[in-house]
Amino acid sequence: MRATETLISTLREVPADADIVSHQLLLRSGMLRKVAAGIYTILPLGHRVLLKIEAIIREEMNRAGGIELLMPIIQPAELWQQSGRWDVYGPELFRLKDRHERSFCLGPTHEELFTELVRQEIRSYRQLPLMLYQIQNKYRDERRPRFGLLRGREFIMKDLYSFDIDENGLDLSYRKMYAAYNRIFTRCGLDFRVVDADPGAIGGNDTHEFMVMADTGEAEIVFCSACDYAADVEKAPCPVESQTAPAALQPLQRVRTPGTHTVSEVAEYLGIPAEQVLKILMYVTDDEPVAVLVRGDRSLNEIKLKNYLHTNVLEIADEEDIAGRFGLPQGFAGPVGLGGRVRLLADNETKNLSNAVAGANEPDFHYRNVNYGRDYQVEDFADFRLAQEGDICPKCGQPLQLKRGIEIGQLFKLGTKYSKAMGANVLDESGREIAVVMGCYGIGVTRTLAAAVEQWHDQDGIIWPSSIAPYEAVIIPVGQHDSLQADLAEDLCRQLTDSGIDSIYDDRPERPGVKFKDADLIGYPVRIVINRDSATDGLVEIKWRASGAVERIPKDTAAAYLRHKLTTDDYPL
Ligand code: ATP
Ligand code: MG
Repeated sequence: MRATETLISTLREVPADADIVSHQLLLRSGMLRKVAAGIYTILPLGHRVLLKIEAIIREEMNRAGGIELLMPIIQPAELWQQSGRWDVYGPELFRLKDRHERSFCLGPTHEELFTELVRQEIRSYRQLPLMLYQIQNKYRDERRPRFGLLRGREFIMKDLYSFDIDENGLDLSYRKMYAAYNRIFTRCGLDFRVVDADPGAIGGNDTHEFMVMADTGEAEIVFCSACDYAADVEKAPCPVESQTAPAALQPLQRVRTPGTHTVSEVAEYLGIPAEQVLKILMYVTDDEPVAVLVRGDRSLNEIKLKNYLHTNVLEIADEEDIAGRFGLPQGFAGPVGLGGRVRLLADNETKNLSNAVAGANEPDFHYRNVNYGRDYQVEDFADFRLAQEGDICPKCGQPLQLKRGIEIGQLFKLGTKYSKAMGANVLDESGREIAVVMGCYGIGVTRTLAAAVEQWHDQDGIIWPSSIAPYEAVIIPVGQHDSLQADLAEDLCRQLTDSGIDSIYDDRPERPGVKFKDADLIGYPVRIVINRDSATDGLVEIKWRASGAVERIPKDTAAAYLRHKLTTDDYPL
């Protein structure tokens, strides 16, 4: 391919409204243009990346037994009414009416349509299991479309739905998809983790999220480098670490701690570690005050507290609330003598804390040697704390690490939720009607593209993994007007292409410096430079985008050499 035959439209300036690196680089490298908030045109270079990601997904879905079809984007409201989601999906659903005032929506996902298809077409257990999928546009009127392709209002998703006669069948389909997703994201060259999205659930594993590790991700993940444990920080269970023998209880002592309003201030004032302090956090939920104890060096996980209280309404108490509803002095509140005045809950870990320091419920005073049971009672102990770096891995005991991640795919066991609501039944072996057991499995295709850039870039531009690069190699003659060099470049491009290396010859009438900059920005894995001497010495210069390594090799062996390098681990991505 010649560059002048396609559309290469790079920008030198960082676009003003692009907030994160992948968005900026996709715009600057000429892969993406904005049409409206969260709605984009994918330009030819970006489209090649997209097609390569889709090809990998398609291959792996087919290998796992998935069968491809294509559903409409416009879906009739009746199906959503049958599943019960028309009224609950909310403003994310793009709704529209036709000229006869009939209601439709633009599909944000396709459970209803797939369930309806199976209801219509599948009669017997003999036709199952079945895994159907499509790769197609989805529409969600996201409250905050942002970060370019990472959170669009129109985006491309691969969605597969599995249909089985029982839970065992579903388990098998789920495992096939789990393996396929691992292969897909590995082949895309991504550094990812699989997060058990509900790690605390007994007999859990009903859903997993695939996360690309990247600093701009919206999710925080704790993961173990020694084993495969990974969990969303907000959901990660925090088992209590085993205790050394409990210390002998010392007598309760009231001490003056003037002006020490925070845990670190009181710890410093008394010369003790923060973990010896009992921190008390005060909330108002459904108009009721509730206080929670956590160890001084820990944070409270509000999601866990909300789940425990079965509420969505949880506000941290402000100064006025603390004085009014709790009747306590801010910064000096503590559990001693609090029983009966407000609901008092405590994180599991605080139970084993002996001779702790806690607020004395009067300004400028704390207690030393506070002990549960003797000095205070609580309504209940539960896991209320936020997982953090250095916590012990619940699976293997090694310390956990913490990083941010971008969700690129999710597996979900639906069970009979949709088949029961919509009457998708089949006859089992004994002729009984049973509801089909379903799973759904999504990959954000456009999000994966952006996540790859978020993960692989440097100050000069994108560093594409070779498997999804728009072209694997770019060929640049230093002297574009030297016909000898131009011919060599064209010839090399043909040779590489013939041997299966996706290549582009940059024949634009630009200075070499501009082409070099664009090559780095666009992120081709290999840059090949032809100069005046190449015609006589037969050598070309190869520069690897990822490592920056430069080598000179004979032009005639370039194809074989690159093929070898790109398909072995020599190319780092
Ligand atoms: P999120 O929590 O990020 O909104 P989700 O849980 O709503 O994602 P799913 O309904 O599981 O997402 O959709 C499957 C996949 O589609 C996601 O894993 C993600 O990769 C992708 N996806 C979801 N919403 C968007 C979006 N607005 N733009 C781009 N991709 C998206
Ligand atoms: Mg969402």
